[in-house]
Amino acid sequence: MTKKVVVIGGGVTGAALAYDLALRGLRVTLLERGSIGSGTSGRTHGLLHSGCRYVADVEVARECYSENVVLRRIAPFLFEKNGGIFVAVDESDLEYKDFFLKKCEEAGIPVKEVSREEALKLEPNLNPDLKAAVLVPDGTFDPLKVILSFLASAKQRGADIRPYNEVVGFRVEGGEVKAVKVRDKVSLREYELEADFFVNATGAWAKKVARLAGLDVPVKPSPGVMVALDGRVGFRVFNRLNKPGDGDIIVHHRGTSVIGTTSWVVEDPDKVEAPREHVELLLRRGRELAPVTSKLRVKAVYVSSRPLVGSLPAGTGREVSRSFAIIDHSREGAGNMASVIGGKFTTARLMAEKTGDFVAERLGVSTPSRTAETPLAPYWAYFT
Ligand SMILES: Cc1cc2nc3c(=O)[nH]c(=O)nc-3n(C[C@H](O)[C@H](O)[C@H](O)COP(=O)(O)OP(=O)(O)OC[C@H]3O[C@@H](n4cnc5c(N)ncnc54)[C@H](O)[C@@H]3O)c2cc1C
Repeated sequence: MTKKVVVIGGGVTGAALAYDLALRGLRVTLLERGSIGSGTSGRTHGLLHSGCRYVADVEVARECYSENVVLRRIAPFLFEKNGGIFVAVDESDLEYKDFFLKKCEEAGIPVKEVSREEALKLEPNLNPDLKAAVLVPDGTFDPLKVILSFLASAKQRGADIRPYNEVVGFRVEGGEVKAVKVRDKVSLREYELEADFFVNATGAWAKKVARLAGLDVPVKPSPGVMVALDGRVGFRVFNRLNKPGDGDIIVHHRGTSVIGTTSWVVEDPDKVEAPREHVELLLRRGRELAPVTSKLRVKAVYVSSRPLVGSLPAGTGREVSRSFAIIDHSREGAGNMASVIGGKFTTARLMAEKTGDFVAERLGVSTPSRTAETPLAPYWAYFT
């Protein structure tokens, strides 16, 4: 009989995983406590990373770039092909340039240095005092559309997607999870859902959800603030030519420019607010990249939490990449449950592929992942 998997979490990781597993022929139910993408995934910069931001770690940069290429191939309709530009504004940025170019080459990311004049011709709103500029293959996306495309593709392979269905407990017996306890927040009824395997893909909430089963997940919720300005000041993504830091990026979407971001660590991702000083810092740093931003009205301030991987206790985790981890809960008494944390929106398909491999191996399913080659359904097919 076809094995059944419950995926908890309707962000990009859970959505990509539901698709990966359904494409392998498994019966999948996805549970999301709110609306689709209502966690971190719906509140990002919407930057399809080229990997250049992370070149100090060549492995992570390569991973981003190769996923950037895969996503554009399987769903060209989801990504704006605007590219990005890294800009040196001060001497410290300029000193970083040679290291940056060398590492991009090592990671195999195609970049091109352009003169100050050419950069300003391409992007007239950049700081006119810029000292160096490099074009990179960044892109942008609407997060909700990407998540819905993964879910539409999963639904077409029989997956059952249930937003507004919150996991409130687990039934664990004899070293196995037998069922999740679910509250349907629309009908206000509670029910149990049995399955052969359970995956906790709840990002920054992974620890809270795992605790409901008496398990632990070493996730460190790390919020970041973003400021959306009323006006588009560029075509490409503007990046500061330096190590990643606060307020070093401006991402343009339709008629909006989003300045990001900051970073700190919290215990509870449900209790996060945007500190006023972070907003001021972002506006100040944004002006250094593009002075014209000082003339724009702040349309919105938003905040969300990265699901950073904390230290993995020996033997409980299986780090499959330097940027994300699959936690095997069998040693804690839940042989048929795993959690997946970390990564980036850009690398969700890869995280799902690796998690799918893990689940398939546990269930004795030999069908490999096919998400890297199979075209994604359009996002609107989710509603059909
Ligand atoms: C400020 C900021 C900017 C970022 N910008 C980018 C970017 O531009 N590009 C990029 O590639 N990456 C970016 N990232 C990283 C990226 O957004 C995250 O790594 C990614 O969205 C995490 O997705 P996820 O599905 O793992 O988690 P989430 O999207 O948080 O999904 C987890 C889901 O689980 C649900 N859930 C929680 N508890 C329960 C429960 N009990 N029952 C059922 N469901 C539950 C939540 O409601 C949530 O929807 C950014 C991150 C931050 C913080």
